[in-house]
Amino acid sequence: MSTKQKRYFLSEDEIPTQWYNIQADMVNKPLPPIHPATKQPLNAEDLYPIFAKELCHQELDKENAWIDIPEEVLEKYKYYRSTPLVRAYGLEEAIGTKCHIYFKNESVSPVGSHKLNSALAQAYYCKQEGITNVTTETGAGQWGCALSYAAKVFGLDAAVYQVKISYEQKPYRRSIMQTYGAQVTPSPSMSTRAGKDVLTKDPNNQGSLGTAISEAVELAMTTPNCKYVLGSVLNHVALHQTIIGLEAEKQMEKAGEYPDVVIGCFGGGSNFGGISFPFMRHKIKDGKNTRFVAAEPASCPKLTRGVFQYDFGDLSGLTPLLPMYTLGHNFMPANIHAGGLRYHGAGMIISQLLKDGLMEAVDIKQSETFKAGLLFSKAEGIIPAPESCHAIAAAINEAKKYDEAGEEKVILFNLSGHGLIDMTAYDQYLAGSLQDYEVTDEDVAKNIAELEKVI
Ligand SMILES: *Cc1c(COP(=O)(O)O)cnc(C)c1O
Repeated sequence: MSTKQKRYFLSEDEIPTQWYNIQADMVNKPLPPIHPATKQPLNAEDLYPIFAKELCHQELDKENAWIDIPEEVLEKYKYYRSTPLVRAYGLEEAIGTKCHIYFKNESVSPVGSHKLNSALAQAYYCKQEGITNVTTETGAGQWGCALSYAAKVFGLDAAVYQVKISYEQKPYRRSIMQTYGAQVTPSPSMSTRAGKDVLTKDPNNQGSLGTAISEAVELAMTTPNCKYVLGSVLNHVALHQTIIGLEAEKQMEKAGEYPDVVIGCFGGGSNFGGISFPFMRHKIKDGKNTRFVAAEPASCPKLTRGVFQYDFGDLSGLTPLLPMYTLGHNFMPANIHAGGLRYHGAGMIISQLLKDGLMEAVDIKQSETFKAGLLFSKAEGIIPAPESCHAIAAAINEAKKYDEAGEEKVILFNLSGHGLIDMTAYDQYLAGSLQDYEVTDEDVAKNIAELEKVI
């Protein structure tokens, strides 16, 4: 019985020094984001009031496939990178599969998730530009923690709007942000017009990512020397996350294998894009027939049941209009535990790739994800984040499908984070009190009908 866990690392000089920009290689480029007022395609300058300039250019860059990682960012990456690529013998044995399952372990970052890969980059570019303050929203709190730490690293002040339900349900994430020195406000709050609007209509509103984004963007636009930063959805965020897949590519080579299927859980697409895009370049350019599977919650199924259309990134319509698979920016998701997966839309690149059939998506019920999470915890020793449990469940399902078909495939998934601060969710699952939420077709249709069609 081979229960050994085999891990692959890179030496310091093997760590990639460039990010991969898949936009340059895509045959059908993502449609342009559109200015909410003029309804014209945006250029980088239009985004300057909100984001650091370098990030605006990365966002719209369709030419350069490789972008240098700044020396200062690379130095900070080396605090926790390379992250291990693990052959999951324990999991394989537990489910009795003949497939080879590997996972990339992003939970080893100081904040416990992949989010730091982009937080460090974004904080760095803000600092470079002379910015002193950054602001953002956070749902489950992982992005807020990553940004709070990255801001501290580069000497910036961070103000974080945390979705109220998470602020109350996940107090330790708030403590972590405050430990790194960030100012944390539950959203909706009375400190912004967007927040006030929501609270006047509904004083008990528990918040949503859409509302929190509106609050943070409003603060950035009304505060001198303050920029907004976002932890998912946008192209430049997925760009920074490609360090995951680029490392994994080299590590798989060390293991002497190449993945047949690459899997990531899906909120806005940053960790899925991060692990997938570097492998997808070989599908686009070299005709490899690797499959890419995004695993989303059944309670927030934008990829499997949303529509492809221009929509706002936030509740009040302050952001540019983005071409994406969406459930509508008014969508109010159930209070599921995988808080990081509750966003209403998918990133622009991912949306185009899904539309073009370069990738697939599956939706998974909450109870099934925790079942997979428990199995994984016992088999591999790492307690996964509720978000990551979606990827694990999808990997298990793929392995079983291949076993039934008598095929031995190589499966790679991204373990986006650990769940040690999400034990309330595990408690509920163990106590049998966890509920499955599924969105009805009527809800989806009603919400989408409300979308103003711009194109
Ligand atoms: C935020 C988060 C996600 C979802 O965000 P993506 O941008 O889709 O990757 C997934 N897993 C963890 C651990 C997260 O913190």
